[in-house]
Amino acid sequence: MAPNGYDVVVIGSGIGGMAAASLLAKKGVRTLLVESKERLGGRFSTINYEGFKLPTGAQLLHEQGWIPWLLKEMGLKVELRPVPRLFYRIRDQEYEMPEKGRLRMLLNFLDKAEADRGKIAGNIVKEVAASMLLNGIAQTMAKPETERSWTLRDWLLQYTDNEIVHEIMDQLCSSAIMGHSWEIPASEFFFFMARSGGQRDLLIAPYGSISIVEALAGAIKPVCDIWTNCAVRQIMIKQGKATGMIVEKDGKTLEIPCRAVISNIGPTATIQIAGKENFTADYLKQLRMKLRPSPCVLILIASDRPLCLDGKTALMITIGTRRIGAVVPLTNTCPELAPPGQHLLYSVGEPKSCLLPMDEEYEKQQCMLDIKEQFPDFEKYGRILKMEPRNIDHEWPEERTWNG
Ligand SMILES: Cc1cc2nc3c(=O)[nH]c(=O)nc-3n(C[C@H](O)[C@H](O)[C@H](O)COP(=O)(O)OP(=O)(O)OC[C@H]3O[C@@H](n4cnc5c(N)ncnc54)[C@H](O)[C@@H]3O)c2cc1C
Repeated sequence: MAPNGYDVVVIGSGIGGMAAASLLAKKGVRTLLVESKERLGGRFSTINYEGFKLPTGAQLLHEQGWIPWLLKEMGLKVELRPVPRLFYRIRDQEYEMPEKGRLRMLLNFLDKAEADRGKIAGNIVKEVAASMLLNGIAQTMAKPETERSWTLRDWLLQYTDNEIVHEIMDQLCSSAIMGHSWEIPASEFFFFMARSGGQRDLLIAPYGSISIVEALAGAIKPVCDIWTNCAVRQIMIKQGKATGMIVEKDGKTLEIPCRAVISNIGPTATIQIAGKENFTADYLKQLRMKLRPSPCVLILIASDRPLCLDGKTALMITIGTRRIGAVVPLTNTCPELAPPGQHLLYSVGEPKSCLLPMDEEYEKQQCMLDIKEQFPDFEKYGRILKMEPRNIDHEWPEERTWNG
């Protein structure tokens, strides 16, 4: 320990805590990073399991995002491999998306499909009205705040009731914001879409997300002490200022003085160790109203053969499924993540409400039905390595609240 304590204590070695500690260490600030688990990285880590490198949560990064920026800032080179292609699977057919104009292409295809259906059934053709919808999207992106009073689903119903278009928008919405189109104000969705880079700049670390965390840890070790297996029990606060923390280390309870604390364990857990009395009533009210942890089921499948996309380095979005949305055949891009001759597929199942606690057994069953339907070879060549429900009160939900 530094003789007079530390300038800053960072609690939690998730990628957020690692980033804070790295930037402080770069400035020469005496920092202590404390992690309650044995392994660094939290939901941005990797575990070894039967020779596979399995993610604990995040696996995809954005090239234009802040993690590649952080690595550059720290002068670190960690191999990151692009996932250049994007497919949509709709009604058992796969469609490769162009670099630009993905939504236009999907809508044009649906326009045609609906027209053909109309001809066959002799019905009145239900047009998707692609150009009207695209204009509506462009206008709303420019002024998202005007659409606060209704949900994304209601907003979309102005243009179409085509069920596939609704499923596509819901899929975009739940993968970007972590809530469904019937749960999210349209303004939230368009705010987010106006600022994000979409899904065309994705990267995967071939040795798992932990390779990024370990590179950061290695770089900061000379300046920053890192304690694992140490749970912080209390943040000490005097007259509104953090003065230190109490931590369990090697069976002992230690009091560590410091000048500032950065807690990256989420607002709810932070309040528990800092004391409610140290936060304003307004802040506590905001948390009560705005924190919406998103439930999900983390799915990792091993197989003797690729189960989809014929080995292409791509991400696939499935439309019209019960629970699974994005499907990433990780080993198509990074064979290093599985033992030789084996394949690893990663997907996340999302329940029909992102606001309520989910029935974990039921959600797993729904994910299983999707898996059997989407990957016809699963029962012959595949097996589930992990199917892990992360409910809204789990310490590691998909996100602690909606994005954006
Ligand atoms: C299934 C799943 C898939 C995801 N996919 C993606 C994706 O593809 N791309 C993406 O960008 N994001 C994805 N995410 C989200 C992403 O994982 C998280 O946003 C991110 O990793 C959160 O990092 P964090 O540092 O904020 O928190 P966390 O990773 O939760 O880190 C908090 C750390 O604090 C530690 N801790 C807790 N309490 C204490 C204590 N008292 N004392 C000391 N330490 C403590 C915990 O052990 C943990 O290591 C996914 C998440 C999940 C669950």
